[in-house]
Amino acid sequence: MKAFAHPDQARHDPRFFLMRGRQRPNFEVPARAAALEAGLARLGIVPAIPPPARRAAIEAVHAPAYLDFLRDAPAAWAALPDPGPEVVGNMHPTPEMLAQGARLPAGLVGQVGWYTADTACPIGAATHAAALGAAACALAAAGEAAQGRSAYALCRPPGHHAYAARAGGHCYLNNAAIAAEALRRAGAARVAVLDIDSHHGNGTQGIFWTRGDVLTVSVHGDPNAYYPWFVGHASERGGGVGEGCNLNLPMAYGTGDAEWLAAIAAGLDAIRAFRAEALVLSLGFDASEAEPLGFLRVTADGFARAAAAISAAGLPTTIVQEGGYAVEVIGSLLEDFLGGWSG
Ligand code: ZN
Repeated sequence: MKAFAHPDQARHDPRFFLMRGRQRPNFEVPARAAALEAGLARLGIVPAIPPPARRAAIEAVHAPAYLDFLRDAPAAWAALPDPGPEVVGNMHPTPEMLAQGARLPAGLVGQVGWYTADTACPIGAATHAAALGAAACALAAAGEAAQGRSAYALCRPPGHHAYAARAGGHCYLNNAAIAAEALRRAGAARVAVLDIDSHHGNGTQGIFWTRGDVLTVSVHGDPNAYYPWFVGHASERGGGVGEGCNLNLPMAYGTGDAEWLAAIAAGLDAIRAFRAEALVLSLGFDASEAEPLGFLRVTADGFARAAAAISAAGLPTTIVQEGGYAVEVIGSLLEDFLGGWSG
């Protein structure tokens, strides 16, 4: 299987992270990509550097003004009086404000709150370049899938919490959504996104909410007790012509292999019924029992069996890396996963 990774991804080195009222080191670190590359190397796979992502392919999913903000915010932030080292928002528009005419302000601090969902997406000088590198990997892997060949995109930063015009949860550009849209434009009539990261793929759900041509399926920890807290419930089925084209399968705390694999099987049934012609897999390893802040309890064997089940669907698949923060195990989990993949 071909794989793609971009050197610019290592330049994104976020520091700020807020957990239960304490500022802690951010755990979406460059060492994650190195660990995943080491896992690929043990399989004899050397990832290729993808060509630069075309702006048009990213604008097919993301708002141009948001893309400009990601590019320009760090320099403008550095020009503020006494700025911190990274761009982090301190206020986000509330539903009441949005219902009463809230709009994007001219001031940068307010713009940061507008374009971010939380404090877990600090923007540094190299964040934009790294996010473009990750998107380029997803697009290159989608190009392979458009030719009928499954491929792996080592994306860092991850993407599935990013909305069309909003960063959040370590994510800036939605790599999976960019890949899915590229597959649609390459001729696949219907595309499915299956998200098995332990967190709900809220950004992907949001981007395709009113779309009848892209089915989004997410298997994740119950949002009543886990990020992203407010969405990810089974009752969210999509809107407009997309009604019925979103499927959430929330799992209880501590769920292990058997129930997790049964949920994935249910997701694959929905994908089959949708008659998807191509698949994007949002692959996170944070469902692992080894995850330090983990919610689910999936074993290495569980990941290998998930790969066997998903590959048996027989769809050309763009595998996009999402989360997984246990640096010491994610390389071997990738090895287990791709080792279990057939075709
Ligand atoms: Zn996650």
